[in-house]
Amino acid sequence: MTRIDIDNNQTKAANANNNSRMFEKRFNHVREIGEEIVSKHSASVDRDARFPYEAFEALKAEGLMGAYVPEHLGGMGMTITQLGALCYELGHHCGSTAMIFAMHQIMVACIVHHHESSDYLIGYLENVSQKQWLLASGHSEIGTGGDLAISKCALEPKDQGFSITKLAPVISYAEDADAIALTCRRGPEAQERDQVQIILNREDYVLERLSDWDTLGMRGTCSLGYTLNGTGKNEQIFPVPFSNITKMTMSPVAHILWGYLWAGIANDAFEKARIVATGHARKKPGTTPPSVQRLSQADSELFLIRSSLANLALEYEQKLSEQNIAVFDDINFAIKINNLKVTCSEKAFEVVMIAMMICGIAGYRNDSELSLGRNVRDIISASIMINNDRLLGNCGVLHTSV
Ligand SMILES: Cc1cc2nc3c(=O)[nH]c(=O)nc-3n(C[C@H](O)[C@H](O)[C@H](O)COP(=O)(O)OP(=O)(O)OC[C@H]3O[C@@H](n4cnc5c(N)ncnc54)[C@H](O)[C@@H]3O)c2cc1C
Repeated sequence: MTRIDIDNNQTKAANANNNSRMFEKRFNHVREIGEEIVSKHSASVDRDARFPYEAFEALKAEGLMGAYVPEHLGGMGMTITQLGALCYELGHHCGSTAMIFAMHQIMVACIVHHHESSDYLIGYLENVSQKQWLLASGHSEIGTGGDLAISKCALEPKDQGFSITKLAPVISYAEDADAIALTCRRGPEAQERDQVQIILNREDYVLERLSDWDTLGMRGTCSLGYTLNGTGKNEQIFPVPFSNITKMTMSPVAHILWGYLWAGIANDAFEKARIVATGHARKKPGTTPPSVQRLSQADSELFLIRSSLANLALEYEQKLSEQNIAVFDDINFAIKINNLKVTCSEKAFEVVMIAMMICGIAGYRNDSELSLGRNVRDIISASIMINNDRLLGNCGVLHTSV
């Protein structure tokens, strides 16, 4: 190894240390926000199915909308693993806040990875970090089920740009977002799989409500249905096909960040169960009450979730560092990323249900400090948010096509 290599490696190690120290500081701020603000308002966010304004005011004040924006564009330049840690932490306090935070970061990642040096999209990232814009996603469409790889709506050429009308069954926090990224066919003649992603600013679209959001859980995501009518300039169309965005960014980042926040919801339930099981153990020293045994079972499920997330997040970061879209043609990686989502959603639900068995009536009550009501209701969304059966079906096709 030459002297220059050694110096470069030392600089890299020093940067990594600085980065991890800086991250630790930011993580601690998020934990404080979680404990002091997000938790405090989570019950009213859930009860009233309202946007978590207090949480986002605090997260924006820390500049966290730009967490994944590269530092040279004014952001924090976090890694996916670091974003995952923040989603995990927020998941302990309010599932809806964590989900909104994750969905925003997924949209930011789409721009970071696919701007292809477009001045417009790079400017967008600067706005996200400087003005703390919040980005929403309108990828589902009425009439296509949960299959995000097809669109019915299409861009209609207009002046120097386009117009678009999309019937969206759910756009989370649409009315509180500064912009919405959405998919559509490239043009009126395009096939249903010939999709592009566009980004519309608040002043570019009008939303007409189609349905309310009175759901079991994730109530603060305010995921109403809308007819979206919008117009834009051609520069608002991402310069790569949506299929590239999905395989390299949207699926992996969504499944990893969702997995982390579901793990946070499950770990919060585990911590409540631990309080109860510790009480049982203290009452009967020298014995192993059933709740203590169940606690260990929940812990091993959580271990599986966390280690699967950590491994896949690292593998994803490794692939990203190769800066070559072709590495995402790897079928085994696509299967792993789908399996991650299915496993995390199912195991997190199991952990919450084990916690319910341990906490008993205290967990079942809505008015108890150990209530698991919100944990249960929020975690149910995990299996249907991109239906696990659909993902298993897709994996089956991939398995049998090799
Ligand atoms: C809390 C929450 C927030 C959301 N926020 C957003 C958002 O902001 N933006 C957005 O675009 N979307 C959002 N979604 C929607 C989500 O991403 C999915 O598109 C949606 O949950 C799928 O809806 P579905 O159950 O009707 O569809 P489907 O996936 O079609 O599932 C319906 C049924 O079809 C079955 N099925 C499985 N595979 C197939 C197949 N191959 N063909 C036909 N049927 C099949 C399923 O098993 C299930 O029984 C959100 C969802 C949730 C739960």
